[in-house]
Amino acid sequence: MSEITLMASAKINIGLDVTGRRDDGYHLVRTIMQTIGLNDVVTVATSHEPGIVMTTNDETLPVGEDNLCVKAAKLLMDEFHITEGVKIHLEKRIPVAAGLAGGSTDAAAVLTGVNHVFQLDLTEEELMERAVNIGADVPYCLLGGTALAEGIGQELKRLPRMMDCFVLIAKPPIEVSTKYVYEHFDGLKNPTHPDIDAMVADIENRDLHSLASHMGNILEGVTVEKYPVIDQIKREMMEHGAVISMMSGSGPTVFGFFEDETLVQEAKSVLETSGLVNRVEVTSIVK
Ligand code: ATP
Repeated sequence: MSEITLMASAKINIGLDVTGRRDDGYHLVRTIMQTIGLNDVVTVATSHEPGIVMTTNDETLPVGEDNLCVKAAKLLMDEFHITEGVKIHLEKRIPVAAGLAGGSTDAAAVLTGVNHVFQLDLTEEELMERAVNIGADVPYCLLGGTALAEGIGQELKRLPRMMDCFVLIAKPPIEVSTKYVYEHFDGLKNPTHPDIDAMVADIENRDLHSLASHMGNILEGVTVEKYPVIDQIKREMMEHGAVISMMSGSGPTVFGFFEDETLVQEAKSVLETSGLVNRVEVTSIVK
């Protein structure tokens, strides 16, 4: 039997712009993604019983083909005609439907795990080519770090590592469907486009304050209108010393960048007792 345990890290979008729409309805994005120190733990093991068996500590998640972990395993096992079985265990820590790419990062970990336990010898690039069939964010999750994603999110360019800071993550007690947000995006009048190129230059120049002045997430217009609590959380973070606070992905998770450890801990305490969030955590920029 062969077994591997992998950390599957969450991401935040530090800038997100929508630049158009493909004929098939997919929106074209320009987004800068960043890995943070919040992760799920994924174990992949070979098994003599054929098929894919998945277990998880999160009983709200599907464990059949609707789970991105199972989809990822099936994709490689079908292609390579693997008749042996596989067992996947997911220890879920990343909030679900939160804008943190939880499912995508699990899928990326399973691709890496299946590649390892069945010795398929696929390179990272070969895994990334297959990953896009599971979801637009999965190739990025294989790469990790600081990256610019374009197209539907799968055209990736690695950027220099983003400046270190304290990252406060806060999630209101709601789940947001990415599909809902993109479907309603086209109805937005004059959305504000963040300056992604200026952000890339700020990261190259390692200037956190200039980066903060250029950051923006065009999808906030949709999600905040439906859930004003997102704006309240952003305001709390800014009032308690954040350099910048923004929604990640299609939401509803809000993150704040802080330079000072005392301030980030204070902001965390304020949010914990605010009644606005059901999850708040201090983490960091990783990779
Ligand atoms: P993104 O930031 O890529 O839009 P997200 O963080 O908003 O993703 P996920 O946590 O990936 O969203 O969950 C979205 C949906 O996917 C949920 O409704 C969930 O049931 C389903 N799902 C399937 N597999 C998983 C998984 N392994 N972990 C979390 N959700 C999963």
